[in-house]
Amino acid sequence: HPAAVDADAVVIGAGPAGLWAAFELGLQTLAVHVVDSLPHAGGQCAELYPDKPIYDIPGVPVCTGQELAHHLLQQLQPLQVPLHLGQTVAELHADRTGQGEGWRLHTAQGMTLRCRALVIAAGVGAFVPRPLAVPGLEAWQDQQVFYTDPPPDVWLDRHVVVVGPGEAAVRLALHTAAHGAARVTLLHRTDRFTIDPALDDELQAAIGAARVHLCLGQPVAVLSDPDGRLLALEVATARDERLSLPVDVLLPRLGLHPRLGPIAEWGLAMERKHLVVEPSTLQTSTPGIYAVGDVAHYPGKRKLILCGFHEATLAAWAIAERLRPGQRIPLEYTTTSPRLRALLGAD
Ligand code: FAD
Repeated sequence: HPAAVDADAVVIGAGPAGLWAAFELGLQTLAVHVVDSLPHAGGQCAELYPDKPIYDIPGVPVCTGQELAHHLLQQLQPLQVPLHLGQTVAELHADRTGQGEGWRLHTAQGMTLRCRALVIAAGVGAFVPRPLAVPGLEAWQDQQVFYTDPPPDVWLDRHVVVVGPGEAAVRLALHTAAHGAARVTLLHRTDRFTIDPALDDELQAAIGAARVHLCLGQPVAVLSDPDGRLLALEVATARDERLSLPVDVLLPRLGLHPRLGPIAEWGLAMERKHLVVEPSTLQTSTPGIYAVGDVAHYPGKRKLILCGFHEATLAAWAIAERLRPGQRIPLEYTTTSPRLRALLGAD
């Protein structure tokens, strides 16, 4: 990722509404960049229900969540919109130093994006790792507790504890065991994991060969030494016994959950956890900032993908009008407009 980007418009969120906003902004020949905290595009469709069928996309009788994400990316492809994935927008500042009024965004991963208009298509929020609920554990985050995969030297010759019920936890336990950890323990409430049979076979083989140790229970407390180093987890077992599990490196992999996070602190008018918009332009209470899709609220709002597409389209037109004052934005059809056909590589 480049450290800094200058754009006409930035879209926060690569869910269906954000991808469609990027498409419509691209058709307006505005330079648009998209940012998403997930490592892939598609928002809820790709993260929450990739294999489930959707039946109410007009003109598409049925497609899965993953297929919809794929089709939207394919449709966007000719417009060459940069997607910055794995980037969570953490800060928003008014930026009046550049060419006129605009916005400066910073991601938690160190990217800066400057833009003249902002589209928030953040859905139900950024998908972030679900934290392991043990009192005081935050103190060791990014030192001995890692929610994203740390470099291998962090676990080399260390006692690694991976916590979680699914594929991410099991694969990480197998990976660290195969790549130099001194001892690997997989901690979970039960000995049943939500993984496919092939991966389960791999796990059982690793447990059988004592490459991975299974610990059944719930972590309830932390034990540290006088220097403040995390030493062990206190684990409550199913029989309500307590045991102490030594740990150098703790890797919770409990899945992702959406957090609206910093967006709620940007001073934009909100209705519960949604951004209040004017329905004809999708502009929020701050001029130049727009919200579309599940995160937007106006009277009669329905959280459906097709409504997000419509909102994204109106927002792109409103942005084109705002950024090109005094210029009439003509309605053009993709079927017949030479300009749009050229943009889409149709001719
Ligand atoms: P999302 O899809 O939620 O995408 C938002 C994106 O923004 C996410 O990828 C998130 O990571 C990103 N983001 C948020 N904050 C930040 C930040 N600070 N920095 C970077 N990135 C950020 N709708 C239908 O119309 N038909 C259906 O059949 C249907 N079935 C569904 C089934 C299930 C199980 C669920 C859960 C939903 C279903 N929906 C359906 C609803 C539909 O998925 C949502 O309406 C749609 O995904 C909303 O799109 P969006 O682009 O607004 O937001």
